[in-house]
Amino acid sequence: MTVPQLRRELKKWQAVLSLQNWRIQIKRGREVSGAPVPFSDEINEECVGLTWWMPESPNAVVVIRKGQGVHTLVHELLHLRLEGHKETPLKYDPNYERALNHLTDCLVGKPDLTV
Ligand SMILES: [Zn+2]
Repeated sequence: MTVPQLRRELKKWQAVLSLQNWRIQIKRGREVSGAPVPFSDEINEECVGLTWWMPESPNAVVVIRKGQGVHTLVHELLHLRLEGHKETPLKYDPNYERALNHLTDCLVGKPDLTV
């Protein structure tokens, strides 16, 4: 899925998740081995997507690895929906991530890994 296609999907899912007040930028992930620079296009090798946000603006950057599509986008937007009011994201929790993936499956279906 191309970045312009992801931007079109972003508009749709922002409405579904009531995130229209957010200014959200999509960046294609550029893999780095260390910690990614906040709000850049950098993404850690273990991640398929990540989101940075500033609740007071409200601005967000969603970084999506090449080969990822709507499922990853909606998963990242759920982080924003559920945590976007906080200054810092929740500490990584595999059970929480699985729950977000389940909710994403309910919204968009299972990820299509062929795109
Ligand atoms: Zn996540």
